[in-house]
Amino acid sequence: MTATIVPPTPDILARAADILRIGGLVAMPTETVYGLACDAANPDAVAGLYEAKGRPRFNPLIAHVASQAMAEREAVFTPLAAKAAECFWPGPLTIVLPVARTASVCDLARAGLDTVALRRPVHPVAQALLDAFGGPLVAPSANKSGHVSPTTPEHVRTDLADRIALILDGGPCAIGIESTILDFTGNTPVLLRAGALGTAELEDCLGVVLARPSDSAGITAPGQMKSHYAPRAALRLNAATPMSGEGYLGFGDHCPREGNLSPKGDLAEAAANLFAILRALDARYERIAVAPIPQTGLGEAINDRLERAAHRD
Ligand code: AMP
Ligand code: MG
Repeated sequence: MTATIVPPTPDILARAADILRIGGLVAMPTETVYGLACDAANPDAVAGLYEAKGRPRFNPLIAHVASQAMAEREAVFTPLAAKAAECFWPGPLTIVLPVARTASVCDLARAGLDTVALRRPVHPVAQALLDAFGGPLVAPSANKSGHVSPTTPEHVRTDLADRIALILDGGPCAIGIESTILDFTGNTPVLLRAGALGTAELEDCLGVVLARPSDSAGITAPGQMKSHYAPRAALRLNAATPMSGEGYLGFGDHCPREGNLSPKGDLAEAAANLFAILRALDARYERIAVAPIPQTGLGEAINDRLERAAHRD
């Protein structure tokens, strides 16, 4: 596959939406940076996205929405969050809220959390793609993990040309730094990530002083602590077989099919199943043994998540 940089004509946007519908990846411009977009509801697509970025961890991703109505299907808005959306959407503000019953964003995109991060971008090409697709798109920066975020289509091509079919050309990004992330799941909104939207402006609109992650017990930094699903059960890693009374999170054809992340030993399939199977085992067992998972490709991110879960962080 070699990515082509294409103008966002109606025909191309329709083709991009078709690629997204079958679980593919499309690079899209936003006002902050270029995002690597895929269907937020499709765990196989999200696993493919992590794989393309070479991410060693499953961080929760931001789901981009086309409208306030779409946002309200995904998350339960508090009055203050609704006010923030009214003031700053569409724009470079990401809002973290409890996930709604009607949500479509999958477990893997949320890293197994009961919360979801939403943003309604203002870039016309991002909006047009969201409208053409008709559902939420996750879109972390369109670069290899550890590289600098791309602010031109050429940056995206340099990093990901062999992994994606289409790069929608929106020219250079107007803002060029990531969105500001505010967490509305507690009593006071917490600034999880400083970003394109200034704190003073936010505080003016909301009429409150934002808390910093260090102010609130249990939250240290974006992507840490609060933003990691911790199973209740104790995990025992690298277990060739389960002991009596343990649930078994398997991998590969030598493990039982029940609780097996991927009977055929496919790491992308395992990533797509990880949070759902972990939750199902967690509901039934006090202790869970985990089969060895190869430390290659997506195995690194899977093992990272399992190690954190075993540490009960
Ligand atoms: P990005 O790489 O720009 O897509 O931003 C992803 C970041 O959004 C993550 O690293 C988290 O810091 C933050 N994030 C996404 N979802 C959540 C969530 N449910 N709770 C807290 N932070 C989140
Ligand atoms: Mg990035």
